[in-house]
Amino acid sequence: MTRALEAKVAILGKQAVGKTSLVTRYVHQTFSDRTPSTIGAQFVPVKIELDGWECRLQLWDSAGQERFRAMTQMYYRGANAVVLVYDVTSEDSFNDVDTWVQELRQNIDLDDTVVLLVGNKLDLARGSRQVDPARARAYIKEITGDETALLEVSCREDYGVIDVFCELASRLVRKQ
Ligand code: GDP
Ligand code: MG
Repeated sequence: MTRALEAKVAILGKQAVGKTSLVTRYVHQTFSDRTPSTIGAQFVPVKIELDGWECRLQLWDSAGQERFRAMTQMYYRGANAVVLVYDVTSEDSFNDVDTWVQELRQNIDLDDTVVLLVGNKLDLARGSRQVDPARARAYIKEITGDETALLEVSCREDYGVIDVFCELASRLVRKQ
């Protein structure tokens, strides 16, 4: 018998790191070099079947409001998982992750939340990398106690994107 779980997933990070691209790549198997148009709905529902579980995830992607911190609370309030996205070619975007973590700590119980750190734009890393994966791993280990919570991906080249969502589902299942 299949068991079902539902989870709210907040996708957070600085503007232009590729949050919408991550959702679009996973859900529609497409990529655009221009900023993908906003999804319109508050969240995108996806279903992942794993180990006898049907995981119904609500992916909350902020539609430009990441600049207005007051508006972002609804994205992470009640979230079962957070995906913190940065751009491996942007030091700034990596530093912004910690700002998110501080804000999350004040508003939700991070110890009871699945946390993944996603370094996007790996296709641009050669020559332009600003964030070393070892540093990102050390950071997320400090936050979650788990260095395997870092995944580097390229939405453009469709590298590692499926793994992000499988990893999310698998971590949510393990918490049941
Ligand atoms: P958001 O503001 O975090 O939602 O970021 P978007 O998904 O709108 O992406 C911002 C820009 O980065 C767009 O021009 C995307 O085409 C580009 N982008 C997203 N992912 C990648 C990637 O993996 N590689 C490259 N080279 N560009 C990307
Ligand atoms: Mg976006």
